[in-house]
Amino acid sequence: APRSPEEPDPVLFLDKITVSYPRASSGGPVLKDLSFSLAAGELCALAGPNGSGKSTLAATAMGLIPPQKGRVFLEGRDLSRIPLRERSRRAGFVFQNPEHQFVTDSVFEEVAFTLRQQGCNDTEIRERTGETLNTLGLGDLARRNPFSLSFGQKRRLSAASMLVAHRKLLIFDEPTFGQDPRALEELLNLLDLLASRNTAVLVITHDMDLIWSRAHRVALLLDGVIALEGTPEDVFAREALLHRGGLIPPSRYHLHKALSPRSHHYEPCHL
Ligand code: ADP
Repeated sequence: APRSPEEPDPVLFLDKITVSYPRASSGGPVLKDLSFSLAAGELCALAGPNGSGKSTLAATAMGLIPPQKGRVFLEGRDLSRIPLRERSRRAGFVFQNPEHQFVTDSVFEEVAFTLRQQGCNDTEIRERTGETLNTLGLGDLARRNPFSLSFGQKRRLSAASMLVAHRKLLIFDEPTFGQDPRALEELLNLLDLLASRNTAVLVITHDMDLIWSRAHRVALLLDGVIALEGTPEDVFAREALLHRGGLIPPSRYHLHKALSPRSHHYEPCHL
């Protein structure tokens, strides 16, 4: 549908992209004429079986793989025309189990580093860094050496560096994989916090609890296209397609359904 002139551009817009690998054994494209968009402040989960192309979609959205057909837009601008430096300021990719690779010798400098790279002035750096450290409960540790922190504090410092950058788009690849419960809770809170501060957040995940409890929207990737898209409640109601995608709704969803007085309404499938 055409968008009205007042409506802001989505942060990410994949416009009918086709992506294939030159030496792939299967031959055919991984993504086929696929369209997808993500708005500011949205927390969207990208699900799908292994090999369905989730990482390929993420890499295309970050401009790491050029699509053979179609275009990628970041805030309404053709990504291929945005200089690399500017892209990395606006969009970021968070790999599975990021190692804590600190590059400075104080907690404050570690967070300030991102802003210095972005060319912020000293006043802005002081204010934004202080505010972010306080948000993550690290305000009292500003002068400490990052390597002297506990595991939990190191995790929160990594989160602080991510949060302070004010990126428009962040894509997380399987972030809950292998996390202990405490780390998991902190991570989920970070996703919420990023979205509440208007970052568009795309999370590649098989974690049905994450999807059910936090995602605003779920997109299911099957056979090279987004086969199903909607709220977790809508998507979990589509059992046949879910099953094809190898997904099983969490027990909390079934409990909710059993206790919910309303009958379910969902959008028709677009396959
Ligand atoms: P997912 O992230 O959903 O597991 P991927 O995007 O990693 O899926 O992979 C999608 C398909 O593309 C798979 O069939 C995979 O084998 C193939 N593929 C991924 N990367 C490459 C590559 N560098 N060269 C050739 N084929 C690839």
